[in-house]
Amino acid sequence: MSSDPSQNYSMFNSQALIDVVGDTTDAALKASRMKQFIGALGGRVFSWAQRKSLFPLHLGIKCCALEMAAAGASRFDAERFGVFFRSSPRQCDVLLVNGPISKKFADPIVRLWEQMPEPKWCIAMGECAISGGPYYQSYNILEGVDTVIPVDIYIPGCPPRPEALIDGFSKLRQKIMRIGTTPSTDREDDAPIIVGED
Ligand code: SF4
Repeated sequence: MSSDPSQNYSMFNSQALIDVVGDTTDAALKASRMKQFIGALGGRVFSWAQRKSLFPLHLGIKCCALEMAAAGASRFDAERFGVFFRSSPRQCDVLLVNGPISKKFADPIVRLWEQMPEPKWCIAMGECAISGGPYYQSYNILEGVDTVIPVDIYIPGCPPRPEALIDGFSKLRQKIMRIGTTPSTDREDDAPIIVGED
């Protein structure tokens, strides 16, 4: 009997079969350039799906949260644009910051951000989230959420109206179309968008 393990066919188990089939398929896809095609197509489909179904975290910090609620309610109905509020950060891809961030709340909001899966996006809604608003340079309020989390979209106003919030989501969709599903950690060079600036 051969002592060479490769000649021992009783060791050819299901994992070995998966490895052989996987290697063969991989080699065939590479040779026919199908792998690049599938990668490019898959990336475009994923990017399309992502921008058509943005899931913001259902988090209300202060008065801007009432405008967020109005945007989700029947008159403005943000769901018709695929904006669907979820209550768990693990099911969300947009962190909508809608109030001042106290220094005590800085760590919890960063933890919420870190619990969200990549690719993810941050929208700063209202003056408090952008710069501290009426609490600017206060002893216990951050001068904007961008001091702890990278922001993609700024929506100025005190408070911004629901139309401005819906416009912010529309700008975010355009950004996802432009840069694809790049993770938030690789977007340092991409300038944030300010709603109402154009
Ligand atoms: S920006 Fe104005 S409306 Fe919004 S949370 Fe701050 S004080 Fe309230």
